[in-house]
Amino acid sequence: MSLPVVRFAPSPTGRIHIGNTRPALLNVLFARAAGGRFVLRFDDTDAERSRPEYAESIEADLHWLGIRPDLVVRQSDRTALYGEATERLKRSGRLYPAYETAEELDRRRKRLQARGLPPVYDRAALALSAEQRAALEAEGRRPHWRFRLDDGIVFWDDLVRGPSSIDCASLSDPVLVRQDGSFLYTLPSVVDDIDLGITHVIRGEDHVTNTAVQIQLFAALGRAASPAFAHHNLLVTASGEGLSKRSGALSVGALRDAGIEALAVAAMAVLTGSSAALRPVTSLEDLATGFDLRQLSRTPARFDEAELQALSAKTLHGLPFAAVADRLALFGIVGDKAEPFWDAVRGNLAHFAEAAEWWGVVEDMVQPLVEDEALLERAAALLPPEPWTADTWGAWTAAVRTDTGRKGRSLFHPLRLALTGRDAGPDLKSLLPLIGRARASARIAGIPA
Ligand code: GLU
Repeated sequence: MSLPVVRFAPSPTGRIHIGNTRPALLNVLFARAAGGRFVLRFDDTDAERSRPEYAESIEADLHWLGIRPDLVVRQSDRTALYGEATERLKRSGRLYPAYETAEELDRRRKRLQARGLPPVYDRAALALSAEQRAALEAEGRRPHWRFRLDDGIVFWDDLVRGPSSIDCASLSDPVLVRQDGSFLYTLPSVVDDIDLGITHVIRGEDHVTNTAVQIQLFAALGRAASPAFAHHNLLVTASGEGLSKRSGALSVGALRDAGIEALAVAAMAVLTGSSAALRPVTSLEDLATGFDLRQLSRTPARFDEAELQALSAKTLHGLPFAAVADRLALFGIVGDKAEPFWDAVRGNLAHFAEAAEWWGVVEDMVQPLVEDEALLERAAALLPPEPWTADTWGAWTAAVRTDTGRKGRSLFHPLRLALTGRDAGPDLKSLLPLIGRARASARIAGIPA
């Protein structure tokens, strides 16, 4: 069997939000699990609403999430292919011109609804004679083009929803080409899926109806076998609202700016609304482990925005040094100390940027806070010689306890204040060897170092 080829196909009409990352990631994980390919396709046939800067921001947001497409295509570069497909459909009688205005169609829909009938297009345009069409065109009317659906039920075995079907008699013949000759999403998507060899279409369940139409389009364009389809449940907020491109605070860019870890966004986007438990992950491979589209549930995927913060912190706590070395280097955290430093502080971070602050405590001048001079004096006298290890802190504080009779907070807190200039932070057992004897002894003596 050939390797899967999947695609994520956003319209570049705004920034993407966490809900859009769900299909992106589900496609990526599916492709990775099978060694397949992932295509990023920009559905930018709507020239008015699509913007290159949105496409750029979407690529940057995906990059931040760790997604590297194997191929990027733009529908606006591929209109010749859609033109050819349109001609084929016209020749085979599946695409017919219709001249109704939006107002006329709206009136008809309302009349049908008033009679309790489904608002399905009545195919009036299909009955026009050549003379009638010529007369309309002579009036200056330009047609839009509809795809004549075959009546009957379309079946597919959905990889998420199981055996699925839609009765096409309940659907209007979809408009594929607008009056101005531009293409709606429906046809270009199928043409591209054929041309790019897409094997699996994984997308939101808001596309289920399109799937029935598109399966007919695949067949009308000579593809008896369509790709496999998987329709995932959509992410909604804790209060049950759907997300839209206007959900600003949940845009990927806003989450990144708020210091949320990319892997927390990814875990939330993929695992919510599935039978897999929400958990911090260390990589997309880790997220992919054991994940299967069949784990997605059929009900809306309700996610708790408030949980993102906590998940992000837990994600940081579990990240190995190798996963963050590049990001630490951006803060100048490099060299032999970088790895033990990361291991010392990661469990204490709510946001990655706090690592820079703790690096300052280890490497830069710190103003010690002096709370208990008598204790600090004894502690300075008992400071062991280097080399220092993870055992130094325990040995040293045991000696100070024996010497002074102090214990618990009255022992540890003054030492922390002096050594770090802060009243809380990572375990001193790991921090102390990084601070080193020269700085530690100065700081305990109340001298900035
Ligand atoms: N541009 C469509 C969307 O953003 C793509 C749907 C599909 O994956 O076919 O919803």
